[in-house]
Amino acid sequence: MGSEMENGNSSKKWSFKGNELLMKSSALSVRSALNMLMENLNPDDPRTVIPLGHGDPSAFPSFRTAPEAEKAVSDALSSAKYNGYASTVGILPARKAVAEHLSHDLPYKLSPDDVFITSGCYQAIEAILTVLARPNANILIPKPGFPYYEARAIFSDIEYRYFDLLPEKDWEVDLDEVEAIADENTVAMAIINPGNPCGYVYKFEHLKRIAETARKLGILVISDEVYYHLTFGSNPFVPMGVFGSIAPVITVGSISKRWMVPGWRLGWLVTNDPNNILKQYGVVDSIIGFLNISTDPATFIQGALSQVLEMTKADFFAKVKDLLRDTAELCYSKLKEISCLTCPRKPEGGLFVMARLNLSLLENIEDDVDFCLKLSKEESVIVLPGITLGVKNWLRVTFAVEPSSLVDGLNRMKAFCERHAAKKQKKVVSSEKRP
Ligand SMILES: *Cc1c(COP(=O)(O)O)cnc(C)c1O
Repeated sequence: MGSEMENGNSSKKWSFKGNELLMKSSALSVRSALNMLMENLNPDDPRTVIPLGHGDPSAFPSFRTAPEAEKAVSDALSSAKYNGYASTVGILPARKAVAEHLSHDLPYKLSPDDVFITSGCYQAIEAILTVLARPNANILIPKPGFPYYEARAIFSDIEYRYFDLLPEKDWEVDLDEVEAIADENTVAMAIINPGNPCGYVYKFEHLKRIAETARKLGILVISDEVYYHLTFGSNPFVPMGVFGSIAPVITVGSISKRWMVPGWRLGWLVTNDPNNILKQYGVVDSIIGFLNISTDPATFIQGALSQVLEMTKADFFAKVKDLLRDTAELCYSKLKEISCLTCPRKPEGGLFVMARLNLSLLENIEDDVDFCLKLSKEESVIVLPGITLGVKNWLRVTFAVEPSSLVDGLNRMKAFCERHAAKKQKKVVSSEKRP
């Protein structure tokens, strides 16, 4: 006994161990990539850091949420009606409010039973991927996409397979590829519309073809609509739920992006399934089961939801759209001035744009990660390397920042690219093919 105490850690064998799946999952997150870039900043640079990598503009004065939403939360809090536990699926007034709110855009009416209140859209994604997990199941996810899907899939032990979004076709889903990679163990495909990271807004016809493909394959569609109605181009937002009678649709969303309050952690998972297939196949019971063993968004935030959804004035949304249209335009035109970057399309929705890096025009830049690391060190500008989203040698840039910071950040990026410009054009083997 005595000698064991003295030797302490070296001789004693403990029987526990951290979960390795978690190490694998979390390495994939956007947050871990951004943390790495933040750690690489030069502390001696007196300039302010310009964060063009994240999706949370709430700290910028131009992106403050609606006053009606703030009032709703303080009213709910001071009413003292929401100090207790909520029901695990969400409080009824909140479910009702979401059902009514989303039904405005649908050809049928959602019932409160179709709505499950979650801790942001993140928990809704966690719920559905946990629900769908069974041995050998696989899901199809977009590339470029949102790495939380991969991370959750790894943790739930579901295989994931990528289908491409086609930059030359307005980032539409490559539906031939979807059919080619699906097999009898495929359970679902996920789409994100309006798009993160590509800034597209899918047309009615394309969404319909997605639903038809899902029907043919006998799978459900997970539609991530966290950027719903954040559109500022020619295509209007069409919810995937419109096609819920062709194939069952699970919509996941939240108030995080449209109201710019991701810290409020209020989201939803909605079954758009007029034919009740999800119920019949146990998906609904399993969602309820998942929520029974997980925690809920704060009750007073749920209590505020109906007021947030009903009282926010149209001019708040109009102002946000105008701001995003302007910053998207500004970002796109500034990026076009940088010769080593190409944007296939001007963003028409969401908060991001993708730009392809042409490494042959740069000296001493290995790849997208190297670009982002050097950019953060030399210019105190953070952008997200595409590899985090499944596409090497691309960058994801957010335009949802204060316009003056956006100009400053993109000017620094331009200066960086000019400083690192190749003296004469090199021959570079296509980056994808390099070992
Ligand atoms: C931000 C984001 C989420 C997470 O939303 P929260 O409501 O903050 O949990 C989910 N999906 C996509 C595509 C996002 O960009």
